[in-house]
Amino acid sequence: MHYSDNLTTERKTFVTYLECSATGERHAADEVHNLSRAGKPLLVRYDLEGIKITLRKDELKRRPPDLWRYRELLPVRRKEDIVSLGEAVTPLVPLPKIAKKLGGGALLVKDEGRLPTGSFKARGLVMAVSMAKAFGITHMAMPTNGNAGAALAAYASRAGIKTTIFCPQDTPEVNISEIGLQGAAVYRVNGLIDDCGKIVAEGRAKVGWFDVSTLKEPYRIEGKKTMGLELAEQLNWQMPDVIFYPTGGGTGLIGMWKAFAELEAIGFIGSKRPRMVAVQAAGCAPMVRAYEEGVEHAPRWENARTIASGIRVPQAIGDFLILRAVRESGGFAIAVPDDAISAGLDEVAREEGFLMCPEGAATYAAYRQSLADGRVKASEQAVLFNCATGLKYPLPPIQRALDRHKPIDYANL
Ligand SMILES: *Cc1c(COP(=O)(O)O)cnc(C)c1O
Repeated sequence: MHYSDNLTTERKTFVTYLECSATGERHAADEVHNLSRAGKPLLVRYDLEGIKITLRKDELKRRPPDLWRYRELLPVRRKEDIVSLGEAVTPLVPLPKIAKKLGGGALLVKDEGRLPTGSFKARGLVMAVSMAKAFGITHMAMPTNGNAGAALAAYASRAGIKTTIFCPQDTPEVNISEIGLQGAAVYRVNGLIDDCGKIVAEGRAKVGWFDVSTLKEPYRIEGKKTMGLELAEQLNWQMPDVIFYPTGGGTGLIGMWKAFAELEAIGFIGSKRPRMVAVQAAGCAPMVRAYEEGVEHAPRWENARTIASGIRVPQAIGDFLILRAVRESGGFAIAVPDDAISAGLDEVAREEGFLMCPEGAATYAAYRQSLADGRVKASEQAVLFNCATGLKYPLPPIQRALDRHKPIDYANL
């Protein structure tokens, strides 16, 4: 079987309508949408009864290992609109040595660094661009801390759609380069991601760009939702006890929470849910502050700074959806300082041979902190999300050198 087999099978799709996440108001499917009429994110709804009758677990087992295996629960109606780069199912990698050392339970990392463009942003953008292609959209624009822009540029270029992309000035060089190489017009902006977002909104009003900012179009969530579908299937439809998710705009956390509800509705899982833990950096923790204050919205975090650039998001339009999922699941929000992120990155690389991205390392640091303060028990099964390959980030130089013209002390190398 090849990945492409999922793309060539005849499709039956089940999208019924789109729903405003705040008011519940229905919006028609098969039309171009950004936010709802109330200015909030839209959620795609499906004929779940129909899917329940159509889709069986053993049928799923026979399909190739990529995200299109869940096509009944995805929005793309026609296979010719799919713009794929091979979105392989990502592995769940155990960290047995560290789990033993910490006296914790099973510790698994879902390694999203294996996806096209090296991050899980590919899941969301493959869906958004495929839908944009279906709608005949010709020019997309986005603010990004790097990974989302790279995924957008790649898929849009493949689909023949123009892209204009704005990054904060200090975005890692590799991100700017890959975005540019993959065919986008990319600009560094002297501000943060929400400042870049304002430029996109203005361009949308003035020249009609399609705004593909986080949660400002409905399909990136549907792509990110496949993390939850995959995880459930990989664990043989048993939910883990707790999930640690590095939270910026929150698409993945909201998407997985939606996925679990849909899986229950089609009879694939029961009512047990993992506790969802939103992990943020101490230098940019608007969700943690709102969670601790018991409020529903998270005001902008001023002077945001952290080495985990993917979660340097001062304000999120889906704040209430993130907080709702965290609270409904019995989870919590937690902030970790940058030095704990760096130490975690070093530790996992050195001991387990797994080079995480800083955002992934933040989930590990949060797991350690939660074990220590008792919010997670040693006996529990925990899943961390490593959302990008560690190779996309600036790495510390190694200074050791060897002069081949001098005697070499082999015993000490
Ligand atoms: C975008 C990103 C995040 C945050 O994901 P959201 O679902 O938008 O909260 C975390 N880590 C990395 C590496 C990212 O690129």
